[in-house]
Amino acid sequence: MILAPEIETRPWEEQRAADDTAYREQVAYLLDRSPFYREKLGIPDAAAAGGLDAIGDLPLTEKQELRASVTAQNPIGAHLCASRDEIARIYSTSGTTGTPSYIPLTAGDVDNWIAGSARSYAASGVEPGQRIVSTYNAGPFAAGAALASFERIGLCHIPVGTGNTERLVRAIQLLEPEAAVLTPSYAAHLLEWAVARDIDLRASSVRRILVAGEPGGGEPAFRAALEDGWGARVTEAMGIGDIGVSLWGECEEQDGMHLGARGFVHPELIDPETGAALAMDDGASGELVLSHLRHRAAPLLRFRTRDHVVVRTTPCPCGRTGPRVRCIGRTDDMLIVRGVNVFPAAIEGIVRRFPAVDEFQIEVFRDGALDEVRVLLEVEDAAATVAVREAFRVDLGLRLEVAAVPPRSLPRYELKARRVVRRAQ
Ligand SMILES: [Zn+2]
Repeated sequence: MILAPEIETRPWEEQRAADDTAYREQVAYLLDRSPFYREKLGIPDAAAAGGLDAIGDLPLTEKQELRASVTAQNPIGAHLCASRDEIARIYSTSGTTGTPSYIPLTAGDVDNWIAGSARSYAASGVEPGQRIVSTYNAGPFAAGAALASFERIGLCHIPVGTGNTERLVRAIQLLEPEAAVLTPSYAAHLLEWAVARDIDLRASSVRRILVAGEPGGGEPAFRAALEDGWGARVTEAMGIGDIGVSLWGECEEQDGMHLGARGFVHPELIDPETGAALAMDDGASGELVLSHLRHRAAPLLRFRTRDHVVVRTTPCPCGRTGPRVRCIGRTDDMLIVRGVNVFPAAIEGIVRRFPAVDEFQIEVFRDGALDEVRVLLEVEDAAATVAVREAFRVDLGLRLEVAAVPPRSLPRYELKARRVVRRAQ
């Protein structure tokens, strides 16, 4: 279902022209209200920034810069543009340092988030009147804002949260939802969990699995395994807390995610090493950079997402226009093994082709700027490691150390998986 056909099928040039107008107004708003961008941009007026065609000349924004501008008086940061009475909601991210970073939204921002998220999730093919079970913990995290998009689509939403697989499977069996929203790791874990209890998820009512929260759901072999185990179609969605939830959502063609947040957000591609802008041509890959176009509470300009994506621009049979992306990993996670750039997601994609492997872990040993990798495979028969090692050599052009570990010896994940483990030498 296309939730907003007049918007989502609009020729991309028309979208771009509308976005150009919104962008110029957003830059003027930032110069007027954002101490952070007034100083960072250092331009006399919005006209000096030009339009979207010249956005690549402006500096990139790093998450770290925002954190560094936090003070006791302003715990949100110098990019805050709205007064206290204009802010309707404040999310937090825990980040890696333990200090929370806050994401404020005006009522209008919340509404735009939900509108974009609803388009992204509707692209999966779910229909009004159907039931969807969700496994997000709404709590303090931005992902919770996506939950309102299910009602916006006209679905009946059954929130069960995380932490209780028994309750989730019970809800599926008794309430018979047509769709489920999960992280890819949890969707895979559930298959294993069900097999161990003689439950056939293929016999359940679930015909669509919507995965989000981490990359991997679009990886062909992994997707095929999930689809087979669930007897359901798997599509993915992606967002980033600082910019918006489920900004992107895949349609039934399963050929990359459409920008559900079109009109709210402008996407760009850069070389993660040099920061140079790259054209969003078909097949191009690089780090995704996002700019708000009509945000109010704390808009960001050229924000580095650290998501490494591949772009598709061929027309999609679903009728939605604009570039599509597939996330192949986090730029921060990129490993350099004997001079070769490798994403853990690529290693994962290969491992997932081998049904004999129940779980795995990627151990990284860093020596200076270079990494060495050992892949631990949970297999019944250690001989299975030979085929995986050979697949690494053929597909990655690398000889990686592979070791067998006993069944059920590695951790399982319900939320974001942590399969890459960095170890001291
Ligand atoms: Zn499509």
